[in-house]
Amino acid sequence: MTLQERDKKYLWHPLTQHKLHPEALAITKAKGCTLTDENGNEYIDAIASWYTCMYGHCNDYITHRVSEQMQQLDQVVFSGFTHKPAIELSEALINILPKNQNKIFFSDNGSTSVEIGIKMALQYHFNHGNKKNTLIAFEDGFHGDTFGAMSVSGLSVYNGPFEDFFLKVERIPVPNGKNHDAILKTLKVLADNNEVAGFVYEPLVQGAAAMKMHNADGLNQILNFCKNNNIITVADEVMTGFGKTGKHFASLHIETLPDVMCLSKALTGGLLPMALTTCSQKIYDAFYSDDIAKGLFHGHTYSANPLACTAALASIELLQTQTIQDSIKAITASHENFGNRVKNHPKVKSIRQTGIIFALDLDVEMQRYGNLRDKLFKFFMDNGVFLRPLGNTIYIQAPYVITNQELEKVYRVIEESLSIV
Ligand SMILES: *Cc1c(COP(=O)(O)O)cnc(C)c1O
Repeated sequence: MTLQERDKKYLWHPLTQHKLHPEALAITKAKGCTLTDENGNEYIDAIASWYTCMYGHCNDYITHRVSEQMQQLDQVVFSGFTHKPAIELSEALINILPKNQNKIFFSDNGSTSVEIGIKMALQYHFNHGNKKNTLIAFEDGFHGDTFGAMSVSGLSVYNGPFEDFFLKVERIPVPNGKNHDAILKTLKVLADNNEVAGFVYEPLVQGAAAMKMHNADGLNQILNFCKNNNIITVADEVMTGFGKTGKHFASLHIETLPDVMCLSKALTGGLLPMALTTCSQKIYDAFYSDDIAKGLFHGHTYSANPLACTAALASIELLQTQTIQDSIKAITASHENFGNRVKNHPKVKSIRQTGIIFALDLDVEMQRYGNLRDKLFKFFMDNGVFLRPLGNTIYIQAPYVITNQELEKVYRVIEESLSIV
């Protein structure tokens, strides 16, 4: 029996309606930008396995560092104990994070990093004697699949069974260069009529909303409003963090810095699951007290796993090398050329780009999205490229180590796909 056949017996896959999509492709190997399936077919991983493996799959430097750490210390409780990988990681992070970020809290995935960000915002006010019960978020955001994270995400048909149990959230549109005054007016009304604790947002690029991009100046105005109105700002950089936008963090493109940041995905270069919620001294100070109940009583068994910390540390070292910084610039320039090449194609409605994140909207009827997505996905895979279109959007977020030749193949296959839509 093939792996694909054996898979069906016991496995239940994420985000999958098994009746409609019964087949899962078995991947047996990954190296650099190449995924290999059980039949020996190869695919260029043009979305870096959900934006994680930015230094290439099975990166020699990262795997070597982690295998050394494995011989030394595998796992230990992080409550009451500490260890060198976590300490070194914290030092490396503070060096590259926006300068107001001063404390680092560990968890295991992007969703939990957002839960913790929400808890920090709510308890910050609670510890100051204020009970605030409302959060603000963008209309089309995505922050994960746990309850708090789902609550602050945009409304989705997939969330139907859970909506009655959500946190109280008010939503605002993203700034587009024209609606900033209207957004500020809405914010004022929301702040006057609710007890607003925090604003949770993906800075500059909204990943699951199909790489929707918004205006940095408008976002800055929103963050300033929050700052002046004691609303804690929580930047979800789970997708945008670690170089994707051309700077180490998207928040570094914006003058007003967030109080809290959520990080995961590329944090460990795709080797091991881990996430972080970082915050400013102001947030930490609100929890620092003689009163034990004012502490942040949130913890996961695998918090700050030494192997994951080592993978993250090695990844951050790679991110800061000249080689990777040069590749980020080269991919960014290459995407710009590709954008110019396709933007006037009759099937292309629009293109957009931030750093190495490139997206292209197809000019097709809304009702065809579902079928079109499957058709495009199959076309890309048949041609050896792993891309995952969202609605009518095709996007690229390839590893920083992708070669010119591989990138050219991704572009070529996307161009060819325009003739089947
Ligand atoms: C992927 C993602 C999450 C959720 O992370 P998981 O590790 O899948 O729980 C949250 N926020 C953003 C912006 C993401 O892209």
